[in-house]
Amino acid sequence: MTRTYLDHNATTPLNSEAASAIADALPLFGNPSSVHDEGRRARKAIETARDAVARMVGARPDAVVFTSGATEANNALMTAAMASGLPLFVSAVEHLSVLEPVESYPHLVVLPVDLEGRVDVGALETLLPEPEDEPRPSAPRFFASVMLANNETGAIQPVSEIAKRVHARGGMLHCDAVQAAGKVPVEIEALGADFLTFSAHKFGGPKGVGALVRRADTPWPVPPLIAGGGQERRVRAGTENVLGIIGMGAAATAIGTRLTSVPRMKAMRDRLEDAVLRDCENVSVFSRSAERLANTSCFAVPGLSAETAVIGCDLKGVSIGSGSACSSGKVAPSHVLEAMGAGAGFSASAVRISLGPETAEADIDRFIAVWREVYERFNERRDCAA
Ligand code: PMP
Repeated sequence: MTRTYLDHNATTPLNSEAASAIADALPLFGNPSSVHDEGRRARKAIETARDAVARMVGARPDAVVFTSGATEANNALMTAAMASGLPLFVSAVEHLSVLEPVESYPHLVVLPVDLEGRVDVGALETLLPEPEDEPRPSAPRFFASVMLANNETGAIQPVSEIAKRVHARGGMLHCDAVQAAGKVPVEIEALGADFLTFSAHKFGGPKGVGALVRRADTPWPVPPLIAGGGQERRVRAGTENVLGIIGMGAAATAIGTRLTSVPRMKAMRDRLEDAVLRDCENVSVFSRSAERLANTSCFAVPGLSAETAVIGCDLKGVSIGSGSACSSGKVAPSHVLEAMGAGAGFSASAVRISLGPETAEADIDRFIAVWREVYERFNERRDCAA
């Protein structure tokens, strides 16, 4: 059975650019820290990839640190923020790799979101410390972390507005740009965030590699993410994941190709959503009125559990996501939807459809047909129980 993959926010297939860059680099076995020829060739490949990631976001190459993924980078920044003892403002809809490390930090302030899942900039303004005379003091007065696009709903946060306010009060802003990469243009200076974090596998690169990128005039406030050797300018020790980094660089170079498919993805996503809204009673589409990623649709039919829906689709060859699909395969209530005011019933029923550049109209037709079957079976069972 051919399959229809509609879970690109969980991970994307390795694109051909990244796959051939990795395949070509397989013979490259040198340790990038070695001074001999084999080492120098590996080092050159890493620096080429660093340039590509820097170019993708308009940063300086020396401001890019490769990591094992966004989880590591997010954890490290939150750990550094907590080590400072300063107030830390984090949105309620952040990924768990931001929220979990700071859960019991005594100076944590959780930023609320509105019903569409957007950070309320007005509320933020009232929560941040009062402005000081010196607008950008040499040391930050507080830290904040607000993602660019949500992994569950696709809602896009007003990051540049938030950055202006954070900087006006003397703070530093981290922005998790994992889900935005390849779906909206990500420009570090335009966003104004001090740090961006990425995972390569969300934009056609390999899994287990990511990056922490710093804005040009932001100092590194972070102790080494991993201590040991002097790799990554002493910020992240350990022999580099050479093949992963090469794959990430190739995926970053090809980011423009992904962005050109966005209007097509939006048209397909809207067609899919219109069909679901037409075919199902009481369906709620989350963040529908917010600015959101063109590839993402998150919706719930109360009573139809996400688990049943995901398994029903899977058996018919269609892969979709439920809630936040990042963890161990179990469907836990979504902290994102709960923060948006959705009751536990809605949250347990939320499924996420996320398209990719390779998604075709036929995949959407197939999803619509399969979803109709899943929904009809649910209705029959509900009628029998009544
Ligand atoms: N942030 C966001 C918004 C994500 O969607 C994810 C992955 N689901 C991560 C961080 C963590 O990425 P990784 O698992 O690749 O470390």
